[in-house]
Amino acid sequence: WEAGLQPLIHRPTVTQDGHRVELVANIATLNDVKPALEHGAEGIGLFRTEFLFMNRDTLPSEDEQYQVYRTVVEQMAGRPTIIRTLDIGGDKEVPALHLAPEANPFLGYRAIRLCLDRPELFLTQLRALYRAAQHGPIGIMFPMVTTRREITEARRLLTAAKNDLKKKGVAVPRPPQVGIMIETPAAALMADRLAADVDFFSIGTNDLTQYTMACDRLNPTVAALYQPYHPAVLRLIRHVIEGAHAHQKWVGLCGEMASDPIAIPLLLGLGLDEFSVNPGKILPARARIAGLNRQTLRPLAEAALDLNEAEDVRQLVERALGSS
Ligand code: PEP
Ligand code: MG
Repeated sequence: WEAGLQPLIHRPTVTQDGHRVELVANIATLNDVKPALEHGAEGIGLFRTEFLFMNRDTLPSEDEQYQVYRTVVEQMAGRPTIIRTLDIGGDKEVPALHLAPEANPFLGYRAIRLCLDRPELFLTQLRALYRAAQHGPIGIMFPMVTTRREITEARRLLTAAKNDLKKKGVAVPRPPQVGIMIETPAAALMADRLAADVDFFSIGTNDLTQYTMACDRLNPTVAALYQPYHPAVLRLIRHVIEGAHAHQKWVGLCGEMASDPIAIPLLLGLGLDEFSVNPGKILPARARIAGLNRQTLRPLAEAALDLNEAEDVRQLVERALGSS
């Protein structure tokens, strides 16, 4: 990173006018924890656990998973660590699951849908997470939630996992926080209801953008339509944040957008509480936030939501604040 950013490593993340937000890291493996800490992560906002299941022929056992989750939590030394349950399907393959090919994998059998359909697979992970929660503050986060019933079911299995452990005599005194990713337009539109069932939301704009714009995030021929700061996406984000705050719940965002210098002022203006970014983006994001005056960002975000196109939004922010 630029040498000028070094002094920010151990600083809190605060706007010019003293508004503090959480700036945390996205990780996929144990190897990402050290870089996250070296760049000044205040916690982990997204641990993508599916990488434990990929590129191998067998599934990881409860113990193998527990050791990995526990190691991350211990290395984070008291900082909050949000671990996402298996988000497989879509573009991510797990050979050991022998999943049938699908015509529309991003609309198909993936993530929480698959986990609820295969409770043994899900319970194994939930038991490992519950055990890891005894070593530090963890949040458990469910991906690709579409309906309220999915949260109810996932929570029921979480309780079953806890009871399994109790029966085996494993101490589980500390309950983890439970949250969901907001990645589908259905969940975004129902956020004011779903907020009653969880401790937090994390908005997954990589998927939320693809589902809102009806545009495959991996298809280069329609890439021009894949626009995270299209007002349609921004309006959903506003709705999600308002719905959570009405229930005194906090909202993070862990899509690539969280580190985008054009998006950051808009997200601050909409009231986002936590930004989860790749380790290498932590310091540039902290510097961007430190240069902004939050008072001016609410009207800027409201103006952006009234525009027609993503390009208009980009120009609005660039003219008001520059692009870095
Ligand atoms: C997202 O969809 O924004 C997200 C963070 O999840 P993933 O990129 O792993 O699908
Ligand atoms: Mg996603």
